[in-house]
Amino acid sequence: MTYLEKLNHEKNDYQKLINNLVKKYKIQFVGIGYSELIIPIDIVDEFVSELTKNKIIVNLVTWWCHCTEKNEKLYNCPHGLGGPDSEYTNGWFSEMGIQAFEVDVNILERANKLPEDSKIRDINNSVLHNILKINEDESFSPCLVPAIGLYVPKEWKNNS
Ligand SMILES: [Zn+2]
Repeated sequence: MTYLEKLNHEKNDYQKLINNLVKKYKIQFVGIGYSELIIPIDIVDEFVSELTKNKIIVNLVTWWCHCTEKNEKLYNCPHGLGGPDSEYTNGWFSEMGIQAFEVDVNILERANKLPEDSKIRDINNSVLHNILKINEDESFSPCLVPAIGLYVPKEWKNNS
């Protein structure tokens, strides 16, 4: 069984697990799928570790500006386009034009065929590494928050 087949086979368990983690860490889904989960940057390390422990692969990082009155004054937000209201805090999220980080499709395909723990850990660590070096980006601002995408079957909806 491939990684994606296993997820589909145990869809209810995996979705419950992910949705519980999302609630626990006050993470916000963007849209109906699992391709963008906005996460407070100070707990991204812990959240990704939980995913690694549960053998769930992270394959995408995008960036959002957290636009609040305070951040507007401090950092001159918004820095991007439109976006959703923040569910757990003040303000809203403005979509940034920063190049998304995507895990190489060949690496994903290999992990899908043979989902060894070490492969999943390496992929998730590469995503974390990418997130934590955002302060080297020329458009870095302290208002930025990451969103991560989960490598799950494309048709999965986060409210089912
Ligand atoms: Zn901003």
